Amino acid sequence: MEARRNERGFWFVNIPRGPHDRDSVRLWLSRPFVPAPRCPLEGQQIQAQRSALSGRWINDCPKCGRSLRAVEGAPEGVYLHPECPVRDFPFPVRGADIRRTEKGSLVLVPGKGTVHLVMIASGFRGAAHSV
Ligand SMILES: [Zn+2]
Repeated sequence: MEARRNERGFWFVNIPRGPHDRDSVRLWLSRPFVPAPRCPLEGQQIQAQRSALSGRWINDCPKCGRSLRAVEGAPEGVYLHPECPVRDFPFPVRGADIRRTEKGSLVLVPGKGTVHLVMIASGFRGAAHSV
């Protein structure tokens, strides 16, 4: 599954509940369950290397190849690695529980259970549940 970040910085997983994308359940991730970025350098400033050939700065991430962004006011050759709003989120999740908030949102929180994604023949179904 993929975890995504909304514009306010909260992470969630959209769990399809039927054959249509619209019919899905949004499971919010509490902080301990926010997955690690796909590239460990995300959100960090990186001192780029100069190309020996052209003398230009190599402004691609050495680990994932993503283009780095220039940083205003930073020393020459310092670039910012963009943060990706999508991360990998694997099920099942151990040491977790699903809590329903007063507003009816589902939140993955630390707990004693294991949260599985239940699948039936027609696809994902019934959302995540904990046992
Ligand atoms: Zn990277």
